[in-house]
Amino acid sequence: MPRNSKGFYGPRYEEGPRRKTGGEDLVPRRVAAGLAHSPGVREVDLRDDFSGLVKRKLAERVGFVCSNPDCEASTMGPSSRDAMTMNVGVAGHITAASPKGPRYNGKLTTRQRKAFRNGIWLCEVCGKIVDADESAHSVRQLLTWKQRAEHLARTRLGVPKANSHFHLLPNDQTMYINVRRFQELAQRDHLQINAGPLKENAPLLNMEGLVGYVMENERALKTLYPEALLFDRLKTKTDLENSRGQLISFVGKFRSKNAPRLRNGRVPIIHPTGNINKDHVAYKNYNSIRLVLPLDSLWYASQSAVAFFRGLSRIAVRGLARVHSVTSKVIVASPIWLALPGRVAHPFAHVAKGAGFDFALPVSPNRPTEGHFKK
Ligand SMILES: [Zn+2]
Repeated sequence: MPRNSKGFYGPRYEEGPRRKTGGEDLVPRRVAAGLAHSPGVREVDLRDDFSGLVKRKLAERVGFVCSNPDCEASTMGPSSRDAMTMNVGVAGHITAASPKGPRYNGKLTTRQRKAFRNGIWLCEVCGKIVDADESAHSVRQLLTWKQRAEHLARTRLGVPKANSHFHLLPNDQTMYINVRRFQELAQRDHLQINAGPLKENAPLLNMEGLVGYVMENERALKTLYPEALLFDRLKTKTDLENSRGQLISFVGKFRSKNAPRLRNGRVPIIHPTGNINKDHVAYKNYNSIRLVLPLDSLWYASQSAVAFFRGLSRIAVRGLARVHSVTSKVIVASPIWLALPGRVAHPFAHVAKGAGFDFALPVSPNRPTEGHFKK
């Protein structure tokens, strides 16, 4: 049986009935220690490797997901053999285990170098990249990755998978797309979005072939199925604090402020100033906090959207946005996609109808939000 000699949580380690523990490396030991050409030297003594327990803690605290925010590959899963698991993750050193390794810090004691605090869980590929000779990855960056990965693992804990993805539902009507932000999102998944019809400083409304273009992007969004924090589920101030830079999804009734006037049925081009008190925004109050979505006239997708954004009443919106800034009262998020939600048929509607009830889920349930934002 080709058992991995590098030990528990080492590359390609397969967990079988018997466990082995031992050292594991991102780079072969002799190379990492600069001893590839020094036969006869006992390199083992020069490296401060993590114990099996530390590796396990590093992996578990991020849910066995690579800590690189641009990767997030799963690192643990079933092997082809029954009841066996396969690990493709590595415990990387934030500061190197040996003097010639990357980011080596001579001030640390052996104990500190081998400690949980000096480790980060990565997939094999990211482990190699981070430790490559000319690695541009700093200690600070790796610590940020680690913190973020642990935070994400915590927010995912106990949250059903389906609830953490943004759904564009069949009856949703796209009102607003920020194609540029959407493209950035798609590129992370190596998905090409047609930006051909986009013209600099031209509102989408004025584009030819808009409908086809929107449909194409909608299809792409359905394929992307991006993972996003449900805004309603962010319960504490810390949750909010940590949502900075993350994707959020929401459904609810929003108001609009400072909307531009339609002139001759055309949307004027506006230039956001970055001041949410002056720019055109959609917003919704969640108890003590306001979610503010600055809008950009370049990206209106439909006439109904313009009417909506002009309107003063509250209108239901399902959306996806990236959190830009967080204060104790206001969260500003850059919208990527906003849709007018279609009515959602309840999964048991047909049963209920047979029993004399007729119900569809309200598009923006006015249920009390939990928290927002208890201490
Ligand atoms: Zn990775």
